[in-house]
Amino acid sequence: MLVALPRHSGLDAPLDYLSDGPLPEGSLVRVPLGRRIVTGIVWPAEGGQTAAPPDPACAVAPAELRPIAERLDALPALDARWCALVRFAAAYYQRSVGELALTVLPGDLRELDAAQLQRRLKRLAKGLAQDATRSAPQAVVPGAPAVPPVPSLSEDQQTVLAALAAGGPGSWLLHGVTGSGKTEVYLRAAERCLAEGRQALVLVPEINLTPQLEARFAQRFPGRRLVSLHSGLTPAQRLQHWLAAHLGQADLLLGTRMAVFASLPRLGLIVVDEEHDPSYKQQEGARYSARDLAVWRGRQAGVPVLLGSATPSLESWHNATPAPEGTGRYRRLAMPRRIGAGGLPTVRLIDLQQVEARHGRRALQALPLAPELLEALRARVARGEQSFVLLNRRGYAPVLHCSNCGWKSGCPHCSAWRVFHKVDRSLRCHHCGFAERVPRACPDCGDPDIQPLGRGTERLEEQLAAQLPGARIARIDADTTRAKGSLERQLAAVHAGEVDVLVGTQMVAKGHDFRRMTLVAAVNADSALFSSDFRAPERLFALLLQAAGRAGRDAAQAGCSEMWVQTWHPSHPLYAALAAHDYEAFAASQLAERRAASLPPFACLALLRAEARSQDAALAFLHAAAQEAQDLGAASLGVQVYPPVPAALQRVANVERAQMLLESAQRPALQRLLAAWLPRLQACNQGEARVLRWAVDVDPQAI
Ligand SMILES: [Zn+2]
Ligand SMILES: [Zn+2]
Repeated sequence: MLVALPRHSGLDAPLDYLSDGPLPEGSLVRVPLGRRIVTGIVWPAEGGQTAAPPDPACAVAPAELRPIAERLDALPALDARWCALVRFAAAYYQRSVGELALTVLPGDLRELDAAQLQRRLKRLAKGLAQDATRSAPQAVVPGAPAVPPVPSLSEDQQTVLAALAAGGPGSWLLHGVTGSGKTEVYLRAAERCLAEGRQALVLVPEINLTPQLEARFAQRFPGRRLVSLHSGLTPAQRLQHWLAAHLGQADLLLGTRMAVFASLPRLGLIVVDEEHDPSYKQQEGARYSARDLAVWRGRQAGVPVLLGSATPSLESWHNATPAPEGTGRYRRLAMPRRIGAGGLPTVRLIDLQQVEARHGRRALQALPLAPELLEALRARVARGEQSFVLLNRRGYAPVLHCSNCGWKSGCPHCSAWRVFHKVDRSLRCHHCGFAERVPRACPDCGDPDIQPLGRGTERLEEQLAAQLPGARIARIDADTTRAKGSLERQLAAVHAGEVDVLVGTQMVAKGHDFRRMTLVAAVNADSALFSSDFRAPERLFALLLQAAGRAGRDAAQAGCSEMWVQTWHPSHPLYAALAAHDYEAFAASQLAERRAASLPPFACLALLRAEARSQDAALAFLHAAAQEAQDLGAASLGVQVYPPVPAALQRVANVERAQMLLESAQRPALQRLLAAWLPRLQACNQGEARVLRWAVDVDPQAI
């Protein structure tokens, strides 16, 4: 029996209870734990045998076993495949299986007793009957918006779908440029899956992208039940949708990373859209990658997994490259052309050194846009076309500065600057949330002349408005879209042509189609080129190519659509590959660098993070942990243990953070070491220098 207990509780193994009859494996029960009654899962024994006798030290005589409180028989049991998925994920990401199994179930489900569950199921059945009457064929209402006809397939789409149909199960990487029609491929693949009477699971990286995809699927499959799973649902909705999938009533499940753990008894297809997106990696608790688990789940269930992207992650690209260069684990599908006559936008690199030489330093300080770019924006406004200016930094300015004494608006609780937000005249820390009104004068010397340094979207919007009088300028970023429904409203205004120039962060660059957009400009991309994060160039390339993809979606305007990138380093290979729209060249150069530096996908990493009141305490814990790893024979296993270091963002909300990297060329070796090592770490955390928290991150996104 599994109940939710963290790994360090020492109660990682299933617990035994008395039952008056046999219980089906995977079924839910309510059991006493201490003084509480909690929900547990009847856990199948590993390898299909009866459970091994428990450790004699904690063996309980049968007479002392407590009986289960009640059975939740109304719910069909979770199937063996689901249990296997959870068992694998717990072992791989080093969590207790009971904790993971119960946290990936809807929270409401864990709270219900048998009677309450019965009522929920009855309500669900009633709702289903109502849905059926509502979606029954209706008379065509004159003037009602017509359902768009199913589009005919491009040559690339036909080739890809034929390969999928003939190839059967397995993992596929669909590399398709923006506008090549990947969604149509997902729809057709789902159609085949549904026709076979099976369920399709479609994962998207962000909750913002679910409504439009949901609408397209709903339109294409009227009469089919489609549900979603993401963090924007109420607990009651989440339970209802989960139940619809588990009971097999839903044919299609769309969701963010959490949906990878949905119970789908008739699973026939998994689609992972924008598979390169970092949001697929959970950043707390069990730090799983939904994309990687989707691949595992598909293989185990013997169903096709379709990973789609215009800029695949280097891991997936490597896996879809035949041996000996790559692993050849995935098969690759390519859609190199846009639908219709539209080509990809022309990429223009603006050399800021030349701009400075021609117009002087002042010109770029006043407005971070080259005069040529400003002219291009003006021309678009005059022609009634739209432009998008990408600046991946929100707020007005990243820091306030006193030129008299050198004071800067640091956060008192973090090793970070507080960002100046002009709209409410506040200084806000984006890490801990600490906010204050902007002081009237420098808090250190009293000089009233404190100035913003650098530039965020808020300031850029203001400056563009001054430079382009009469143009309608709008901004979309995390600050303008806080209220529910505001992002949809703002996007609708852009679609309706009420905006000439849109200023925004990466939020806008993802997935949205703007028909009238003919110019995309990235004004401050360089910072990622020299970041210490080894994935920064990969992210930048994906972001720029994705942003470029917003331009020229309308074939009539594709000929004149452009992407401008301002840079101090125009000869950088990343920009050369971008200008040529050459993902393959970019991937090849990055993979060569990763191979030389022993970084993923050529090495497996795990990061041990520690948080403490002092940096010394955090480092001391990590040093002790490193010693444990060496004692366990890390070196002879082929696992390298790097020295502990302070984290890149060292202090957040008055907590000091440090980390230590483990690396191995062999995944099983690293996994073996982690499994033996982690149970011993609790013992390292003793004495005065205790850490507040520690956690291991397998396959970390950043190191
Ligand atoms: Zn000062
Ligand atoms: Zn802070």
